[in-house]
Amino acid sequence: MADTTSRPLLTRRLFLAGAASSALTTGGLAPSIVEAAPRLPGNPFTLGVASGEPAPDGFVIWTRLAPDLAPNLAQGGGMPPAPMAVDWELALDARMRRVVRRGRVIARPESAHAVHVEIGGLAPRRPYWYRFRAAGVQSPIGRAVTTPSAGAPVDLYRIAVASCQHYEYGYYSAYRHMVADKPDLILHLGDYIYENGTNNRSTRTVRRHPPHEAKTLAQYRERYALYRSDPDLQAAHAWCPWVVTWDDHEVDNDYANDQSEHRALPAEFLRRRAAAYQAYYEHMPLRRLSRPRGDHMQIYRRLDIGRLISLNVLDNRQYRSDQVCGGERGGSAAITDCEALSNPDHTMLGHPQEKWLTGNLGRSKARWNVLAQQQLMAQFVAYDKQNRALRSNEGWDGYPGSRERILKFIEQSRVQNTVALGGDIHSYWVSDLKPDFGKRDAAPVATEFVGTSISSPGIPYGRLMAHMPSNPHIRYFESRRRGYLLCAVTDDHWLTDLRTVKTVRDRHSGIDTLRSFYVESGRPGAHLA
Ligand code: FE
Ligand code: CA
Repeated sequence: MADTTSRPLLTRRLFLAGAASSALTTGGLAPSIVEAAPRLPGNPFTLGVASGEPAPDGFVIWTRLAPDLAPNLAQGGGMPPAPMAVDWELALDARMRRVVRRGRVIARPESAHAVHVEIGGLAPRRPYWYRFRAAGVQSPIGRAVTTPSAGAPVDLYRIAVASCQHYEYGYYSAYRHMVADKPDLILHLGDYIYENGTNNRSTRTVRRHPPHEAKTLAQYRERYALYRSDPDLQAAHAWCPWVVTWDDHEVDNDYANDQSEHRALPAEFLRRRAAAYQAYYEHMPLRRLSRPRGDHMQIYRRLDIGRLISLNVLDNRQYRSDQVCGGERGGSAAITDCEALSNPDHTMLGHPQEKWLTGNLGRSKARWNVLAQQQLMAQFVAYDKQNRALRSNEGWDGYPGSRERILKFIEQSRVQNTVALGGDIHSYWVSDLKPDFGKRDAAPVATEFVGTSISSPGIPYGRLMAHMPSNPHIRYFESRRRGYLLCAVTDDHWLTDLRTVKTVRDRHSGIDTLRSFYVESGRPGAHLA
């Protein structure tokens, strides 16, 4: 719960006594703030800086003070349990010479000394650079970009899409290449961390998690700090604003609302969820809107990119009904059709979010309408030896009523150019979406691109490929490669490059474009470029 004010604050009560707050009020080219340097065990900016939630007039800038990340040693990241003043400045140039804003914010121990500063009043579609200063130390410089004005035409906008970055299973060279691609925005669709304990017996891992599954606030904080200590991930956060949403592993594998994977009591699990959400908020460049309130956190929201893109960021986890038809065991299962699937109260998004989404889509004047969500929306069925159709009860196939309502709405309200983006499944999928996937000849009403994982291990290729002939609306599938999506969007086309690293075992791995698919405006469905 960091302060987000940009006004100078009196510091007498604070840990950092003696800061020269007068410099704050001068603005313009005032010299950097001089302050008494408290003793910290090291550089407080080991986790880098980040920006997010871009708007035409501003964005959020973020950092967390954590001078010591040694596991077990430093549950507080090495910070003393006291507030500390953090100064920030925003400039028009990468060398921070033309400073246009500065301010002071207080990093508090109850927020893991994370700070979120919401900056407004800036010019549209323009890069800015920012940095922080605490305990006499300057942070690295980050870059943030405002979005085009509401309703303004946009010639080209590029979005990189990431998901599923298990730390143990690979290096993040994908992020190094993503920065070189210079996207306008990075979208993270979940599994930013994995909560599980170490898989150190696996021969496929390249680095280590803590030994235990994260369940407490201290453990979640430690996990985020471990992930964010990666230099390639930090560089991607420093390059441009991020827009994030979560999936299950930010809390617990396969959780659904108040239902944990292993059937903990809901009240007990909600306490764990509250700790996980708090740590998520602390480490992501989110606005005050998303500040956790008890065990709830508002993360579904809309961002607009001029009149080109309306970006609906969805939350598939917090409000969903528990997975059904899988028997007593919690979590995901391959299921045959069963009655509970068609219960109208069985929901992926929850009623308020679904209404909010269709309301946005119905009113939208944007050229492209994006569903930025976590999982594969397209139906995928596999036939077993008895010729029974099997599907997963965990993704949208486990919530067919919700999916059908949304896709029918898109069809009936003639929502223009809907593109679903997803992750979770550690593989690339390019699909045509339709309200009834059984109708082979029906035209698609929307297009879907699911990105593969940044580093998490892929799903079995041959086993899934064998079922693709039964799923003709799936135009492309590849699970053997890791990487991300790079989407170049214009009024006339949506072009998605499937960017793929050669290996996640090498920090310096090269990059390739596996395939490119485009969607023509006015004609849902993807075509090989
Ligand atoms: Fe994942
Ligand atoms: Ca997942």
